[in-house]
Amino acid sequence: MRPPLLNPLFAGLKGLSGIGPKFQALFARLFGRDEPRFVDALFHLPHSAIDRRARPKLRDVQPDTIVTVEVHIDKHKPAPPRGRAPHRVLAHDETNDIEFAFFGMPRERIEKMLPVGEKRFVSGKAILYDGRLQMTHPDRVVDEAGLAKLAAVEPVYPLTEGLSNAMVRRACAAACDKLSELPEWIDGAFLKAKQFRGFRASLEHLHKPQELEDIQPAGLYRSRLAFDELLAHQLALALVRSDMKREPGRAHYAEGLLRAKIEAALPFSLTASQQRAADEIVRDLTSDDRMLRLLQGDVGSGKTLVALLAAAHVIESGRQAAIMAPTEVLARQHLARITPLVQAAGIRVEILTGRERGASRNALLRDLAFGGVQLLVGTHAVFQDDVVFSDLALAVVDEQHRFGVHQRLALADKGIATDVLVMTATPIPRTLVLTYFGDMEVSELREKPAGRQPIETVAVALDRLDEVVEAVRRAIDGGARAYWICPLVEESEEVDFAAAEARFAHLQEFFGARTGLVHGKMKAADKDEAMERFASGNTPLLVATTVVEVGVDVPEATIIVIEHAERFGLAQLDQLRGRVGRGKDKSTCLLLYRAPLGPTAKRRIEIMRETEDGFRIAEEDLALRGEGEVLGTRQSGLPGFRVADASMHRDLLETARKDAALIVTNDPMLQSPRGEALRMLLHLFEREDAVRLLDAG
Ligand code: ADP
Ligand code: MG
Repeated sequence: MRPPLLNPLFAGLKGLSGIGPKFQALFARLFGRDEPRFVDALFHLPHSAIDRRARPKLRDVQPDTIVTVEVHIDKHKPAPPRGRAPHRVLAHDETNDIEFAFFGMPRERIEKMLPVGEKRFVSGKAILYDGRLQMTHPDRVVDEAGLAKLAAVEPVYPLTEGLSNAMVRRACAAACDKLSELPEWIDGAFLKAKQFRGFRASLEHLHKPQELEDIQPAGLYRSRLAFDELLAHQLALALVRSDMKREPGRAHYAEGLLRAKIEAALPFSLTASQQRAADEIVRDLTSDDRMLRLLQGDVGSGKTLVALLAAAHVIESGRQAAIMAPTEVLARQHLARITPLVQAAGIRVEILTGRERGASRNALLRDLAFGGVQLLVGTHAVFQDDVVFSDLALAVVDEQHRFGVHQRLALADKGIATDVLVMTATPIPRTLVLTYFGDMEVSELREKPAGRQPIETVAVALDRLDEVVEAVRRAIDGGARAYWICPLVEESEEVDFAAAEARFAHLQEFFGARTGLVHGKMKAADKDEAMERFASGNTPLLVATTVVEVGVDVPEATIIVIEHAERFGLAQLDQLRGRVGRGKDKSTCLLLYRAPLGPTAKRRIEIMRETEDGFRIAEEDLALRGEGEVLGTRQSGLPGFRVADASMHRDLLETARKDAALIVTNDPMLQSPRGEALRMLLHLFEREDAVRLLDAG
């Protein structure tokens, strides 16, 4: 049960006045969840802030800086009816004149905002235009009373198209107001040593900053929150682990007959590291300790097959296995890949996603409950309460690069002492594996399957677009298949989507009906169809947003063009590039960038050209992040985290891990006063499944 103190935070944002269905949908997109809540706003932190405290006389205004000036309004010069000239407003103080310019805004509104003969305070960026002071579209216009309420330091948030900063600010401020004073869960000595403030005070400083420094990523307030998030994660992990140890595991015995049949049906042989990983997993499965193992491997390293071999082992022992993918597309792809192999072995496999409904779903659930279905492939739909296994022995969670302990837990809960294998394609730098996953066992697939050729990676400036189009056309005429990845413009699907559509239209001029399009806003069925048309070669050119990043596999694709490569992080570039080089033919990755490149973007592109080793790329990524370049998006650098950043808060990560271990040793049921506070923390960061374990235990 969630502590009642927190309930207001978990209420829907729609309770806030002015948030109708339209804003509700925009916030849903911004926070990446269907029902946006106050708690989502609470952890939606500003990426920068505007300081409006400079109040110079007009004579002293520094061009290109944000100022708040006190002026008398003299005269309006409305925009001419046609043409693109702005509505201009002339004003002065005792030292100089200034002009305000407004494009495409109704005259009455401007006249009301800046009434002639009155005094107003106007805040925004002033420029020199033809030697005269000008401000285009001031950010704020207020009178004396409004000035008192004007935030001196205004937080600026990551946005989504259609949502203004003012609106997001309001939601975040409202979230702060819903937050009660909570008991302290951080160890007193540590809190003091770090000079951290309380949880609530820290959030107040982030959402209502007094100084620009207040919102710094490595500053006191954000660090405190990062620590909270890391501690919640580590504590949940530690609780899971101790719970798993509490319940004895089961040994699953098999001779390996099914595994042998699958291997015999393969058109290739296992790589040495696949062999090793499969052996390690089988050893875990055969032992009576519960397995909690991580299988790490670059995209295309063949993790799915290892998962299948593990599944075959428990199935041969008479039990069931489940493989969970993060998306519907991936689940179907796993199924397609697995089906011929399991047929060869005589294993019955079924799929369960949000799309399976009605009678066929019921029939499937029945067969699952009595054990007729031996292997279930699915999405998070597998977690639904009415999905009951006869005897789930192994749960494989293919997380790609999403992480969530609670999902692992929920799946493991569906069986008796279910063994858990987590697969990830995000190579976590070795220096971070322990801190990230706690004491999980780790298997790695470091080599690519044999017969793969290195991918040629080329960087091309965007002004050579025509040449690139021409080259792609030649290749496609020759039978190739190519992805064209559209720029990640901002943290806005809407904009990404528009860019993809525009590029699609442009490329269609060259490629005609051979052009396909897939993006995140399409319905699942349409997405699948677009992918299918690409996979079958009907549309050999696929224009896509980053939806293809997540594990899609078309071995025939040999070209990937990544537009605005400078806007992607290293990990993402690596994931995208991994879409090609999956077959026997030589592949090319074209990184299209807009010149001039900043030093970090340049380095990223260099690294991409130097290596294909995902583990090395992850290390380099971490190092580059240390240089503090922000991509302007919400990427925190630690997948699955909203506040903590791998490079900025690394020392905190280690402390959180040690602290969590200590807590679980000293107060395993979280019953002390601090334990009670920690339960609060777990709820706040939605790791409450771990709390559930305690209460069930
Ligand atoms: P991952 O999930 O690690 O990204 P996949 O399991 O999707 O990788 O495998 C990528 C491709 O490589 C698939 O088409 C798969 O059939 C193929 N593959 C897997 N193992 C081998 C192997 N040992 N030799 C050749 N091809 C392989
Ligand atoms: Mg895979």
